[in-house]
Amino acid sequence: MIQVRCPYCDALLPEQEFAYAGQAHIARPEDPSAETDEAWRDYLYIRSNTRGLHKERWRHVHGCGRFFNAIRDTVSDRIQETYRMFETPAGGSADE
Ligand SMILES: [Zn+2]
Repeated sequence: MIQVRCPYCDALLPEQEFAYAGQAHIARPEDPSAETDEAWRDYLYIRSNTRGLHKERWRHVHGCGRFFNAIRDTVSDRIQETYRMFETPAGGSADE
């Protein structure tokens, strides 16, 4: 069982309090109708399959209900850092 720190509640809690919500920092196209079918497919379905540090979106479903971002090591399954939406992680940029 992994422990997750909600950056809003500032509490370290069991992962069962949370729900994984996909890869973080996927930017929605400004004008979806201008996108090609392939670009729209990529936006909707294509995600990285990172080995190592991966930026993810999580939600504190049994607490404050808010979404936040986490950097998780996919090899060890340990969460290195969590940070609020629209914040830059302490360990680097918010890209990817
Ligand atoms: Zn919370």
